Amino acid sequence: MRASKKVIIVGGVAGGASVAARARRLSEDAHIIVIERGSFVSYANCGLPFHISGEIPERESLLVQTPQGLRNRFNLDVRTESEALRIDRDDKTLTIKNLVTGETYDETYDDLVLAPGAQPLSFPIPGIGRAGHFALRAIPDMDAIIAWNGDVTPRNATVVGAGYVGLEVAEQLTHMGMSVTVIEARSQALAVIDEDMAFWAQRHLEDHGVDVRLDTLVTSFEDPAEGEEAAASVVVCNDGSRIPADLVVLSMGVKPEVTLATDAGLAIGDFGGIRVNQHMRTTDEHIWAVGDAIEVRNPITREWSLIALAGPANRQGRVAADNVMGRPATYRGTYGTSIVRVFDLTIASTGLNEDALKRGGIAYEAVHVHPLSHVGYYPGAEILDMKLLFSVGDGTIYGAQVVGKETVARRLDVLATAIQGGMTVDDVAQLELCYAPAYGAPKDPVNLLAMAARNVVNGDVDIAQWYEIDDLDDNTVVLDVRSADERDASSIPGSIHIPLDELRDRVDELDKSRPIIVHCFSGQRSYFAQRMLALNGFTVRNLAGGIRSWQAAHPDRERHEPDAHHVSALAK
Ligand code: FAD
Repeated sequence: MRASKKVIIVGGVAGGASVAARARRLSEDAHIIVIERGSFVSYANCGLPFHISGEIPERESLLVQTPQGLRNRFNLDVRTESEALRIDRDDKTLTIKNLVTGETYDETYDDLVLAPGAQPLSFPIPGIGRAGHFALRAIPDMDAIIAWNGDVTPRNATVVGAGYVGLEVAEQLTHMGMSVTVIEARSQALAVIDEDMAFWAQRHLEDHGVDVRLDTLVTSFEDPAEGEEAAASVVVCNDGSRIPADLVVLSMGVKPEVTLATDAGLAIGDFGGIRVNQHMRTTDEHIWAVGDAIEVRNPITREWSLIALAGPANRQGRVAADNVMGRPATYRGTYGTSIVRVFDLTIASTGLNEDALKRGGIAYEAVHVHPLSHVGYYPGAEILDMKLLFSVGDGTIYGAQVVGKETVARRLDVLATAIQGGMTVDDVAQLELCYAPAYGAPKDPVNLLAMAARNVVNGDVDIAQWYEIDDLDDNTVVLDVRSADERDASSIPGSIHIPLDELRDRVDELDKSRPIIVHCFSGQRSYFAQRMLALNGFTVRNLAGGIRSWQAAHPDRERHEPDAHHVSALAK
């Protein structure tokens, strides 16, 4: 009789714990060993930012499972404070160091699963790593930040990097009463979404008092100069600014942890992650890999990339465990569906953004809509900023981004499901979604977004994008069809104004020989105008997303918040 299977898993958090628990559900007699360098297994690293300020009050609630809990429930051989040092592929042996005793020993395996995660990216910035500098990757990092904060909350904090974790941390530190600066080398926060959508997050941070500095590089961390405010560090930037910081959180991204894989001669991809096939198998038939350490294929472009997210790590863990235990399973790839909260604003995206589409040489069009989260007559409606990227040829949806204060996750998840199900803009325009006044609208925002795209695919509407407005030739007319009070609040320079309800009567004021770009607040009323003018023989395009999208890309321009009037206009 064959001895029971022996599986070793390196890494005991998101991906690793998933592999272990699933493997046990498929085999009662397998010997499943989890090797984890840290003291904790299966904890909620996604929750770490929220305990720093006490939004998640109990530290213990982050510990989803303890080593003993995993032993009891799943009969796992969990070895914490143990580091996997080396793989001998010929002998199918892993060398492990007990970090408490210093002892090193070998353990054989039938199958080995690597789930070692990623490491915070660091750069050789002079002064980096001074007292008061922290990354946030694991429980001890969170504990160290809390301990540094101590009883006297630091006055100033600088977060380097405006990705998801950086912005979550910036919010939490602001809640604690710190004056927070976020420094980002790129020209926008949240690189996974497009610039015209990232704007909403940036402005929201600023509205909450966070000093957001884009296009800015940290050149050094120094002691305060004579006469400067006392601080643990002075953050020196390439624009010459010097920012005092009692606390610095370095959140500059992550890189896959591939030391074991590289040393063992496993294939590493162009982006530095472990290469696996669709079964999560590495280039060694007995070694598998999951989570932040691997490269994943985008199902739309088939291109490789690194996507560090908990959902994919968990699903990959399940696929790997199935295959290890002899049940064939396939991972379909990663779309990068993600969400983050910045104060009370939610930003979510799925699929390809404009940069990825351009890199992939994929022809696409973008529409923006700004509907209300539910009908305007029911209290509490909030504007949603929604963007869809799609093929004008056949209506294939490539990506979606949604920003707002209400129902963002629900809308984005419908769009993510639609993309993964291969639905076109026509399919999504026709989706039957739930509706009652407190929840949505008879034409759900998701339907509206897809309808705007379908109008483009069908050739019913030609659209113009916000970035075209700045480079218009003198011949093109920008026509604003909003109401007079909306117009008074702000306008696109050089535009002319005829309110929608007067347009039929005043159409003679327009010159048929000149192309027109028509706009309103969100693109919806201007769509009606665009149809009317096109049917009257004008060459006319609708500004996608209206003045709201244009203003999002022109933060220096005056802008206005929608008041009750605009909200009721949107609700029509
Ligand atoms: P991890 O969960 O990091 O686990 C890897 C483990 O392997 C580590 O514990 C490490 O100690 C161990 N290890 C490494 N090398 C060795 C070795 N040689 N020997 C033994 N052990 C080793 N994702 C989301 O989708 N949504 C979120 O809201 C979100 N928020 C996040 C917030 C923070 C602060 C952080 C840090 C991450 C967040 N993520 C989020 C990302 C998500 O946590 C990761 O994508 C996920 O944990 C990856 O799982 P993993 O198993 O690959 O790696």
